[in-house]
Amino acid sequence: MAIFRLTKKFHFEMAHVLNFHEGACSNLHGHSYTLLVSVKGNVENKNLLPTTGMVMDFGMLKKIVNDEIISYFDHALVVHESMKSVLPTHAIFSKTVFVDYQPTSENILQDMALKIQQKLPENVELHHLILQETPDSFAEWWLNDNC
Ligand SMILES: [Zn+2]
Repeated sequence: MAIFRLTKKFHFEMAHVLNFHEGACSNLHGHSYTLLVSVKGNVENKNLLPTTGMVMDFGMLKKIVNDEIISYFDHALVVHESMKSVLPTHAIFSKTVFVDYQPTSENILQDMALKIQQKLPENVELHHLILQETPDSFAEWWLNDNC
């Protein structure tokens, strides 16, 4: 038995507004995000079937993150639900995601962690997430910090 971590990288474009924030981020703006998803698990026996010798299939991890995260946030405007009444109804806002938190990188990571954890196979745990908002700014969520 050996422990491994698998990491997959994703990219998405997202706009957000941090209302109540005192600074530039209170304006509507967007980022080209990079998300690193790392899972951890055992590899029981490397000599048996091709499906063993893996923590999980990279394709399965890709599908989970695409279905649960990327399709939801990519090219979306993400705002706090308190802004529902003030947003225009024009079609350019048709992919607006209302969330019950301020869409900071930290809060988005918390949301992503819960969504991914619910879909991972048994015996595979979400080890950490890294969300890169700008070339110089990252936020990280680690399981060990949150259990
Ligand atoms: Zn921002």
